[in-house]
Amino acid sequence: MTMTESSSTNPAAAGGGAGSAAGTAPAAGGPAPVPVDVMGLAGELAAERSKPEWQTFNLNLNDEQREIRDWAHEFAASVIRPAASEWDEREETPWPVIQEAAKIGLYGMDASINLFIDPSGLLMPLVQEELFWGDAGIGMSLVGTGLASSAVFSNGTPEQWSQWLPRCYGTADDVRVAAFCSSEPGAGSDVSAIRTKATYDEKTDEWVINGQKAWATNGGIADIHVVVATVDPSLGSRGQAAFVVPKSEVRGLEQGTKLRKHGLRASHTADVFFDNVRVPAANVLGGKEKLDARLAKARENNGSASRGNASMATFEMTRHIVGSQAVGIARAAYEFALDYAKDREQFGRPIIDNQGIAFKLADMATEIDAARLLVWRAAFMSAALMRGQQPDYRNGEGSMAKLKASEVAVKATEEAIQILGGNGYTREYPVERMHRDSKIYTIFEGTSEIQRLVISRAISGMRIR
Ligand SMILES: Cc1cc2nc3c(=O)[nH]c(=O)nc-3n(C[C@H](O)[C@H](O)[C@H](O)COP(=O)(O)OP(=O)(O)OC[C@H]3O[C@@H](n4cnc5c(N)ncnc54)[C@H](O)[C@@H]3O)c2cc1C
Repeated sequence: MTMTESSSTNPAAAGGGAGSAAGTAPAAGGPAPVPVDVMGLAGELAAERSKPEWQTFNLNLNDEQREIRDWAHEFAASVIRPAASEWDEREETPWPVIQEAAKIGLYGMDASINLFIDPSGLLMPLVQEELFWGDAGIGMSLVGTGLASSAVFSNGTPEQWSQWLPRCYGTADDVRVAAFCSSEPGAGSDVSAIRTKATYDEKTDEWVINGQKAWATNGGIADIHVVVATVDPSLGSRGQAAFVVPKSEVRGLEQGTKLRKHGLRASHTADVFFDNVRVPAANVLGGKEKLDARLAKARENNGSASRGNASMATFEMTRHIVGSQAVGIARAAYEFALDYAKDREQFGRPIIDNQGIAFKLADMATEIDAARLLVWRAAFMSAALMRGQQPDYRNGEGSMAKLKASEVAVKATEEAIQILGGNGYTREYPVERMHRDSKIYTIFEGTSEIQRLVISRAISGMRIR
């Protein structure tokens, strides 16, 4: 049976329809039953369904995925977790942990490429969930470089990949981190408001960058800074480009205030100033020729607001990865609260004996699984896009994953504190740290409101504001 034949008939016919034709007595006066070869039909269907196109949806992880997830889990349990409280209190980048991760191949360019280029799309979210289950602050120190390296990867030329990606991570003996600088004091959710300016100096064939970046993860402690700047402010975000600025090779790049934060305190966040910073023309990601062509096209089309589905897909492609981090935090808090609720006794019995506590845990488990499933769906769509298939983000599925996972993390960690009572509120127990860490997920990489904006625009086709 061909796909066309099966889909042109009632899809249920192969099951109930065929069975009923073979097994039911004819209605009085109706046509005589047509004999149906049920076994033959089942065999044909089985052959049809064994084709690869029928096997694309699968929630069973394969051996390699399980092995890599377990490897990340082992590192999270034995290295990250024991160090979590110390680095949270120190509010410093945990270089020794990054070095250990680099030594076993969990931190570095090869690891990132390996996890990113995976036809299922699942490896990156699987590994990040485990790392952030270990601890979110340390987790962000391990994956923050990915913001810059994925900007190089998605916007750069193959030559730029070779030139800059290794420098983002350094080597196991000399680890480095990288920073992605987009946000500014006046441009957070509204990236079109970026004021940092890149001006081309024809005489020296260089870009000259001026401006201030805010809240940059690894800002100032990185060598490689990927900086989003406007080349033609009249074009809004279409007049922007990303530039690689290696701190060790330029003058005028200064770290500003290192921020003292509510959570993710083991991850360095700082303002970065660019004062007449000069970089070679070749440092614009994608190359100057391509940028000039893009700007010319944008000027031609100026006034038409639509940036199309492909543009939405670019942002949607990575949002679920941030969601997987939030799932890791939520799961860590849930697991801790579950164990605690079984152990802690009040009124002569474990507190989990009360529906008031048990139902909270049931809701937490359900919501965490729901969030993970949204993350996996978006991962699957992102991988399809990487394979060159048409973008199919019809309803903002990447945003849905990030939105749901973020809000689940905040709620689950708060409930975990409630379940631990007074202990939950102290720094002697990890759930208060997890709660502090979770909150950033409704803010960075697009706030919850911005995710809702993306989804509502996608589902309505209207320019909701
Ligand atoms: C720990 C940390 C790490 C970060 N790392 C980086 C990094 O590495 N690189 C980088 O470039 N940036 C980074 N950021 C910045 C982060 O991406 C921004 O903080 C975020 O985009 C929100 O921008 P904002 O803070 O200016 O908030 P605003 O944009 O001022 O928003 C304030 C509030 O208004 C709401 N709002 C704004 N516009 C709308 C609207 N149209 N409709 C409805 N509500 C709206 C928002 O949802 C939010 O609730 C980081 C921030 C933090 C705190």
